[in-house]
Amino acid sequence: HAKDRVPCAATTPVLLGDLGAGKTSIVVRFVKGLYYECQESTIGAAFFSQALPMSGRGGEGDATVRFDIWDTAGQERYHSLAPMYYRGAAAAVVVYDICSLDSYIRAKKWVDELQRQGNPHLVMALVGNKVDLEQKRKVRTQEALEYAERNGLFFVETSAKTAQNVPELFYELGKH
Ligand code: GDP
Ligand code: MG
Repeated sequence: HAKDRVPCAATTPVLLGDLGAGKTSIVVRFVKGLYYECQESTIGAAFFSQALPMSGRGGEGDATVRFDIWDTAGQERYHSLAPMYYRGAAAAVVVYDICSLDSYIRAKKWVDELQRQGNPHLVMALVGNKVDLEQKRKVRTQEALEYAERNGLFFVETSAKTAQNVPELFYELGKH
């Protein structure tokens, strides 16, 4: 029975990236299955917890992974708080908006910082969000994919709005 299944593994991902990239929307989509056109900006950081059964998804048998997620604010003025969230994290999800070159540049800066100062076993994912806005795209998939490959990151393009690739992102983190 699903209700008898207890989480047998836990992971502690942290979401980093520019204000407005869609970090909170991705987490809310994953945790609540909802999407808000006017998602309120995160102040400081927010915490979410969600269990995900891995069965049939490349996981081990009936394993369920519990995600204890730190969703950070993204504003520059909160930058000094970021290490508090990523130091203890098992995984980092760096999010940019595919319609914003600036957010992509800042995502790469986050990756640099995590590679220099994060935990050496940190699992890192680079996420290009808002793929539903293909007509406004500024960051080419191939460019980000090659950058991710060079840096050993998992890469995926998502839409919190349509839910495209949001479960896949968390299954991938869960597998690790
Ligand atoms: P955060 O600052 O990174 O947490 O970004 P938010 O989750 O607050 O999202 C910023 C804005 O972008 C909000 O108005 C969201 O509704 C919108 N947004 C987030 N994800 C998507 C998406 O996948 N597609 C579209 N079209 N808009 C999105
Ligand atoms: Mg937010």
